[in-house]
Amino acid sequence: MKISAVKGFRDVLPEESARWSWIEATARELLARYDYGELRIPIAERSTLFSRSIGETSDIVEKEMYTFDDRDGTQLSLRPEGTASVVRAYVEHSIQVKEPVSKLFYIGPMFRRERPQKGRYRQFHQIGWEVIGRDDPAIDAEVITLVDDLLARLGVRTARFQLNSLGDGTCRPVYREALTVWGRAHLSELCDNCRRRLEQNPLRLLDCKEEGCRAATASAPAMADYLCAPCRAHFDDVRAILEGEGINFVVDPRLVRGLDYYCRTAFEIVAEGLGSQNAVGGGGRYDGLVKAAGGPDVGGVGVALGLERLAMVAGDTPLQPGLEIFIAPLGRDADLTAARLGRELRSQGARVEVESGSRSLKSHMRRADKLGAHYVLILGEQELGRRAASVRDMVAKLDFQCAIPLDAEPEKFLATLRQLAVEASSQTA
Ligand code: AMP
Repeated sequence: MKISAVKGFRDVLPEESARWSWIEATARELLARYDYGELRIPIAERSTLFSRSIGETSDIVEKEMYTFDDRDGTQLSLRPEGTASVVRAYVEHSIQVKEPVSKLFYIGPMFRRERPQKGRYRQFHQIGWEVIGRDDPAIDAEVITLVDDLLARLGVRTARFQLNSLGDGTCRPVYREALTVWGRAHLSELCDNCRRRLEQNPLRLLDCKEEGCRAATASAPAMADYLCAPCRAHFDDVRAILEGEGINFVVDPRLVRGLDYYCRTAFEIVAEGLGSQNAVGGGGRYDGLVKAAGGPDVGGVGVALGLERLAMVAGDTPLQPGLEIFIAPLGRDADLTAARLGRELRSQGARVEVESGSRSLKSHMRRADKLGAHYVLILGEQELGRRAASVRDMVAKLDFQCAIPLDAEPEKFLATLRQLAVEASSQTA
């Protein structure tokens, strides 16, 4: 019986992988310029890590985590996001002792049991970065400008940032209370989900997708009117820097993000071409999370971008160098010479395919053509006898004898092959 991949989990085939590799390499290179180091976090963690930091009443913890008992009874979950693990690692390895300000990034799969649709999977991939140990507005802005730089390098032209401030431990409780009072008075206009969540997590009313809730919450109190003076100053500064940097952003007072740990700056990046799942990424500040995880009382800020969604909105993948040399041995006796030559040419950096000597010349040529090879090196009885290959230049459509002996230094062999092809094609031109 045929077994297929699990719903919401998918294979990434070579062509798409090449696109992902380009996106990842571009991100790595840029993150290095901003002085980030890579943290490879585990796929599974104790479930309590996520329920404590993301929040018991968040959608992720309530219904989307892949949770299971390990054989010793420990409850584990596949990571649904990266920040909780980064903070755990930061505390566990006392990273602050060596680096009071830590800039860390991660790339890898995340797991959430959501309803799969275009751009939404149960296993998806994120590139994320975190700065732990700074609580000033300039670093919030830097995290955002790094996103902007990355998107520009990837040729994403329609990205826009949505920004909000979620207040802090001083002003958010006051706002929360005001929103709860408002919610109680408008209970009949809210969906079942929001009614249920009102007392525990009233902020979620603001990002409910139900039409009725959206209409009702238009008259709800806004966080902006409740920000305390330090939060207001922080938000003003972040915005001023972003404006100065020419970042395309709007303030969205409804933006609350799905994770409980955010405070002050929260943002999302949206782009065209993604359908209903229009967010490429999101992030924000999470002061208090490191302390709650048993670490020092330092602030943190970070962002995560979805790789699948970046791949949907990025420009064309730069062309990869194609297959340069196809070695076509004729007869099993030629296999050894073909294998040796192939390996030597690869050691010189050429992209080489070596076929089996059991195939005919016709089938070799057909396959070389299909693979888009530039040169075919034919190794038949004659060629082995005189220890020199025959060459077909598939691009110039030329045949020539390769005057270089098969036993020449591979570096010389490759250089002469390329040179002969240039000469042969200029003679016929
Ligand atoms: P979040 O922290 O939930 O806002 O996620 C950050 C980014 O990860 C989103 O903006 C998406 O690009 C991506 N993402 C989140 N969930 C999924 C999913 N189920 N499938 C694909 N990408 C996702």
